[in-house]
Amino acid sequence: MDIEKLQAALTELRQPAYRFKQIKLAVWRDLKDSFDAVDNIPLSLRQNLERLVPFDELVLRTEQQSVDGSVKALFGTRDNVSIESVLIPYGDGTRTVCVSTEAGCQLNCAFCATGHLGFTRVLTSSEIVEQVLYFARALKLKGERVTNVVFMGEGEPFLNYDNVKNAILLLNDKDGFNLGQRRISVSTSGIVPGIERFAAEDWQVNLAISLHAPVNGLRSILMPINRTYPLEQLMPALDAYIARTNRKLMIEYLLLGGLNDSTRNADALADLIHSYKEVLRLSVVNLIIYNPVTDSSGHPDRFKAPRLSSLRAFEEILNKREIAWTRRASFGSDISGACGQLAGELTPKKDQSEDLPSS
Ligand code: SAH
Ligand code: SF4
Repeated sequence: MDIEKLQAALTELRQPAYRFKQIKLAVWRDLKDSFDAVDNIPLSLRQNLERLVPFDELVLRTEQQSVDGSVKALFGTRDNVSIESVLIPYGDGTRTVCVSTEAGCQLNCAFCATGHLGFTRVLTSSEIVEQVLYFARALKLKGERVTNVVFMGEGEPFLNYDNVKNAILLLNDKDGFNLGQRRISVSTSGIVPGIERFAAEDWQVNLAISLHAPVNGLRSILMPINRTYPLEQLMPALDAYIARTNRKLMIEYLLLGGLNDSTRNADALADLIHSYKEVLRLSVVNLIIYNPVTDSSGHPDRFKAPRLSSLRAFEEILNKREIAWTRRASFGSDISGACGQLAGELTPKKDQSEDLPSS
C-alpha cells in the first residue's frame, strides 16, 4: 500500500489522526492482506478505503522454489512492469529478503543479467517495501518472520536514493514493520554522491560496495560506472564513510574466471585496501562466485566461474596480506534467483562452470 495515498484518503474521509496509526499497525506490523481483514476499524471506513486506496501496489505473477529452499517471486506493478525478489533461508535461521530498487538497471555491468535487461523505471518506496511484506506474510503462516533485508536485487539503490531511504524508514518504523536498522544492508556499484549521503544519515544501516576489480582499467571494462566514479574517488568516499560511521563495510568481489581471479589481482586488491586506513581497519571482502547469466538474445556467457584452485590461491593471498574475507554462499541459481541473475522473465542458462562448494 502507498502510505501517502492512505494518508490522503484518511484526510478526505475526515478521519481522526489515530486511524492512521491503527491502519499502519495492521498493515505493516500485523501483515493484514486486505482492508477487510483490518477488523478494528468500522466496516464503512474499510469500504471507503477500498474504493480510494489500492491495498497492494504489486501483484504476484509467479513464484519459483529452488532446491536449496530459496524462493524467487516475480511481481507486476500497477503499470505492468516486472520485478523480482528473492527470499533466502539461511541455515542459521535467518530469513533474508533481497529486494529490487529499480525495474532493470541503467548501469549495464558486463556480468549482470539485470544490466543486460536495460532500465524501465525506479520503484516507489511502497513497491520496495511490498516485496518484503509479501514474503513476511507467507512466512507468518509458518510462524516465521523476515529477519534481514538486503537491497541487492535489480537496480542501483543510490540512483533511487529518496525512495530507498523512505523504504528503509518504513521497514524500520516502530509503528510499522519494525525491522532493526542493523538488519538492513544496501549494496551500491559505487555512486560516490550516494555514498556520501548515506554516510551522513543518522542510522545504523549497513553498506556494501560492489568492487569486483582492484584497478581502474579492469573495473571500467566490467563496470562502466567506474568511468564516472573511478577508484581514486570511490575509495576516499568509502574511507570517509567508515571514519564517520564506524560501521563495517562489505566489499563485494565477484570472481570471474581468468579475468580478475589471479593471485596478481588478489595482491592488487590487498594493496588497494592497505592504501586506505579506515577501509583496512573495518571492511571485509565478500567473495562472490560468478553465477552464469544469459543475455536477452540468448548468447552464451562471456564469463565463467573461477577454478577452485584459483579461488583457493586468491584466498591464500588475502590471508597472507591480512585482509578479512568471507565467501558468499550462493542461493537460487537453479531458478535464476542468485546474485546478478534477476532479470524479469529471462530464462536460466545451464551452469557449465566447474562445480564449486558454496562455502
Ligand atoms: N546494483 C547494486 C545492487 C544489486 S547487485 C550493485 O551492483 O551493488 C548485487 C550483487 O550481485 C552485486 O555485487 C553485483 O555485482 C553482483 N552480481 C551481478 N551479476 C552477478 C553474477 N552474474 N553472478 C554473481 N554476482 C553478480
Ligand atoms: Fe546494475 Fe548492480 Fe547489475 Fe551493475 S551489478 S548492472 S549496478 S544491478
